[in-house]
Amino acid sequence: MRPEESKELTARLERAAIFLLKHDIFRKPDDLARRFGLPVPVVRYWWRNVEDQTKEIIPDRDLTAKQSKMIRKATQVLESWEKVKRYRPECGAPLANGRRCKHNVVIRQPEGWDMGALADRCRMHGGASRRVRKKKQESDDD
Ligand SMILES: [Zn+2]
Repeated sequence: MRPEESKELTARLERAAIFLLKHDIFRKPDDLARRFGLPVPVVRYWWRNVEDQTKEIIPDRDLTAKQSKMIRKATQVLESWEKVKRYRPECGAPLANGRRCKHNVVIRQPEGWDMGALADRCRMHGGASRRVRKKKQESDDD
């Protein structure tokens, strides 16, 4: 997965999480994290960084069709995370035998999520490293 795609995916999850927390569909970041299998420190961090943490509670009966739809949509975005975790892209690093590595890319540790939840490589090929992997010279890379 390219770094931009991983960042975009992570930003989508963050927006959805903040939307649901803001509207008090989940009371605490920890509740939301557990429900969708996200790392608790990441969701706490997202919520801490929201400027205005006032909840906008809308009683069920007052929800407009549009608001209900947005809540459903945000829930779906977060539910998709389990699938993303299970079906992570292949690492694709070139191997000595001329094939490409088929291991799944790494899910980063919470402190690395600002670079995107998914790394672009598996654990063996540097996906777990804290720094963004620099592209090697063309001669070694392909
Ligand atoms: Zn690999």
